Amino acid sequence: MKYLKKFDPEVYRAIKNEIKREEENLELIASENFVSPAVLEAQGSVMTNKYAEGYPRARWYGGCEFVDDVEDLAIERAKKIFGECHVNVQPHSGSQANMAVYFSVLNTNDTILAMDLACGGHLTHGHRHNFSGRLFNVVTYCLNKDTEMLDYNQIQDLANKCKPKMIVAGASAYPRIIDFKKFRSICDSVAAYLFVDMAHIAGLIAAGVHPSPIPYADFVSTTTHKTLRGPRGGMILCRKEFARKIDAQIFPGIQGGPLMHVIAAKAVALKEALKPEFKIYQRQVVKNARALSQALSKLNFRIVTGGTDTHLLLVDLIPKNISGMDAEIVLDKAGITVNKNLIPFDKKSAAITSGIRIGTAAVTTRGLKEKEMKKIAILMDKAISFANNNEKLAQIKKECRLITKKFPLYSNLWRN
Ligand SMILES: *Cc1c(COP(=O)(O)O)cnc(C)c1O
Repeated sequence: MKYLKKFDPEVYRAIKNEIKREEENLELIASENFVSPAVLEAQGSVMTNKYAEGYPRARWYGGCEFVDDVEDLAIERAKKIFGECHVNVQPHSGSQANMAVYFSVLNTNDTILAMDLACGGHLTHGHRHNFSGRLFNVVTYCLNKDTEMLDYNQIQDLANKCKPKMIVAGASAYPRIIDFKKFRSICDSVAAYLFVDMAHIAGLIAAGVHPSPIPYADFVSTTTHKTLRGPRGGMILCRKEFARKIDAQIFPGIQGGPLMHVIAAKAVALKEALKPEFKIYQRQVVKNARALSQALSKLNFRIVTGGTDTHLLLVDLIPKNISGMDAEIVLDKAGITVNKNLIPFDKKSAAITSGIRIGTAAVTTRGLKEKEMKKIAILMDKAISFANNNEKLAQIKKECRLITKKFPLYSNLWRN
């Protein structure tokens, strides 16, 4: 970063500090990951300079032959990973991917049936402060009170009653396998489109660790930066019959020029996802989540649904007498980064919460395994029991640092 260091020491310092933070802390935010240096290079490339409105070989600008190459590569690789379908790699984010899917076949005020945010759904699945809740008539499904898992009978009953034009499957805080085949049959029974938002689990699906929605869904959207471990962005996969509609909704519908440097980085990340190592990585992500869940459970934390099938777990902190908000702050002081999260049927508000959400995608990228998960559980428990003791928390932070030191991340990048 020698040019940046010289020209803009303030931004340079902030980036250096962020590198140090990522290097030193235990990153357990379920939606985050660490991209490879190859992805960083592609994203930091001159392709940021290029306007390329349109699609490969059908652009509104000249000079697009090389950005066409990276967009074609990204699309081909996505198809190799996820199967035959139409792919659009231009969405700037998961939210924009979702917006394009809705706009492709819905009209304003059409009914969609989606998971409630309070039960693990996403803002773009119809929250009243989000465009989705403002433009569409949203009916929400929740979870079974006893199992805390999806209740397909409840979803079927709601679908029978509200006759949605689209059913949305997918979540931001659901630790169990989602049965896309069941969603398909519910959709068929009421003639609704099935839209699967696999943002959180795309990496698991790419590696065959979670069943794929592609055979069942009309539309699939994802982010590329969560378990898929690519640059920050979105992607849509859909049945070929919707190809034109989806492409037209992304551009010119809701976006202008695509971010070609990000698309180049998406292509690189998708190449990584095709490697055998990626399957091993994703399997380890799930093993680590299970190990962490078991270790926390032994220390008297309550794990929502009793465990996990994925990269994430929801922890109910009620037995520990601390709110999610306070736990997030305390753990931060101890060098462990998590986020507060509502648990199913939470009595506290979204700003306070009774739980935290934990994910293992990022720590698994840097090489941590089951043994370290047990250590992390003990450190989390210690930190929460010494919530008001800053000295102890600083000491725990040092113990976390001993773990991260053993598993360097970008250290070779930030030493120069
Ligand atoms: C993260 C997420 C998104 C949105 O992604 P952004 O890139 O932050 O807009 C959409 N849907 C689900 C289920 C998510 O978890």
